[in-house]
Amino acid sequence: MTSQDLIMFYRQFILLLSACLACAAAFSNPLALDTDIDPQRLSDIVKTLASDEFEGRAPGTAGEEKTIAYLVEQFKALGLKPAGTSGAWTQSVPMLHTTIEQPDKLAFSATDKSLQLIQGENIEISTLHDVDAINFDSAPVVFVGFGVDAPERDWDDFGDIDLRGKVAIFLVNDPDFSASPEEPVAGRFGDRRMTYYGRWAYKFEEAARRGALAALVIHETEAAGYGWSVAASSPGDNIALAESSGAEPPVMLQGWLKYEAAESLFEMAGLDLSQQRKQARSPDFKAMPLKGLSMNAELKVKTEQFESQNVLAMLPGTTRSDEYLMVSSHWDAFGLGVPDEQGRTVRPGANDDALGTAGVLELARVLKQGEPLQRSVLFAVWTGEESGLLGSKAYAEKPLYPLEKTAANFTLDILQTAGLARDVILVGEGQSELEDDLAAAAAQQGRVVTPETLPENGLFFRADHFSMAKQGVPVLLMMGIAGGADLVEGGREAGEQWIADYVGNCYHKTCDAWDENWNLDGAVQDINAFEIIIRDLANSERWPEWKSGSEFKAIRDASAAARP
Ligand SMILES: [Zn+2]
Repeated sequence: MTSQDLIMFYRQFILLLSACLACAAAFSNPLALDTDIDPQRLSDIVKTLASDEFEGRAPGTAGEEKTIAYLVEQFKALGLKPAGTSGAWTQSVPMLHTTIEQPDKLAFSATDKSLQLIQGENIEISTLHDVDAINFDSAPVVFVGFGVDAPERDWDDFGDIDLRGKVAIFLVNDPDFSASPEEPVAGRFGDRRMTYYGRWAYKFEEAARRGALAALVIHETEAAGYGWSVAASSPGDNIALAESSGAEPPVMLQGWLKYEAAESLFEMAGLDLSQQRKQARSPDFKAMPLKGLSMNAELKVKTEQFESQNVLAMLPGTTRSDEYLMVSSHWDAFGLGVPDEQGRTVRPGANDDALGTAGVLELARVLKQGEPLQRSVLFAVWTGEESGLLGSKAYAEKPLYPLEKTAANFTLDILQTAGLARDVILVGEGQSELEDDLAAAAAQQGRVVTPETLPENGLFFRADHFSMAKQGVPVLLMMGIAGGADLVEGGREAGEQWIADYVGNCYHKTCDAWDENWNLDGAVQDINAFEIIIRDLANSERWPEWKSGSEFKAIRDASAAARP
């Protein structure tokens, strides 16, 4: 090669290299976003909320005080209006905290055997009652299968069994979750999609309606959607609304039974659990007493009433300020727990849901800065989500702004931190017209909508948007663990791996901490999708509706006269 050749070669090499760099740059960011949502601000807010100083933001603790003060200061600085009770920034949510430590006595007994139950190890049991002690002897035990009473699906697990004063044992999820296609039950409960009948919340409510003393759900990782360590992450601890307009008083004791313990229990009754699980999928299944078995308990209960707070801020609309869009997240996390391997006790809830809360604050900032909107936007940061959607439930029971004139609720709860995605994940496919809005917003971003890939986890029933849905408000949820996004780097596989890592290692644990290596570009995309929909809806006269077939349509339709 001559020197001239060498120079030519280098020139071509450099041209090629620069072209390659340009194409690589374009490839790494093909989805240039038209938004002021700032990933650095998201990161900074999460860093603060998830710092040790906030002690994992458990309701009723010093961590709550710091969190509320921080959120109010942020909304104030953005120039929003206080939208809580009587001109305040907050709405009070009275709560009851109960703790059952290692019980004096807790066991299942048969004539010749007994099974000792150890809090957090093979059982997780708590109460929602304001009592000092719970004592009972020889309570009969009944296996209720999936414990579903669904006349509209022609399914009744209970028959004429009387559950009063008894311990009801439930299977998790709904009857067709693990059914093969040839079984008669297949498809009756949405196949692998979890219906509300699959949620523990439904099972405890159903047991209460039937006057049961206790309700225990047999834990299975796949069917529950999370492992035993998540189910038993705060053994014996429970928080409920101190004043709720809910129907029946809850069961005295509720919780999870570890699968291996349930196996032993069934053995004591001469039964095989795996066979009974299969039996419970048959339409002929009926609840049955576990013969010769009873449960004994002597438990001390510590109770404490306290006030927690929802934070509410308003961006008033210009011409139709009495019509609302609601944007929400939850500020609470799991507080302090037992030390992990590294000695960390704070469960900082960085992704769940400091990141969603940062998203709400960023939406507040960019919407306030932008062109004025005709409808009002209410920003609501709820308390007590992790204790059973309590803050949002309290608001839904005593709304400060009419729900029938709330056009939609947008909830951010866990966003992926693995970078730009080619799609956005839709939770609750087929529910409301908001999914068409989401598709339009995604198209504007150069993305497509992908339905959640893990509908069996029942995420549509597991975040605060559900409290609003139950009252008929159309909802849209962004939840990073609903399905693996098709990431620009690594595709769907990388998106699924992110979920597996997060849910497997960090969800609800000390490891859910702020990380400087997060790539928040995908989170910005998802928040921006809400931004696009909100700007459009806030300047429109449209009231999104539930689609036909949605269980929430009837309640919304009943208030149609209230909307112009
Ligand atoms: Zn959450």
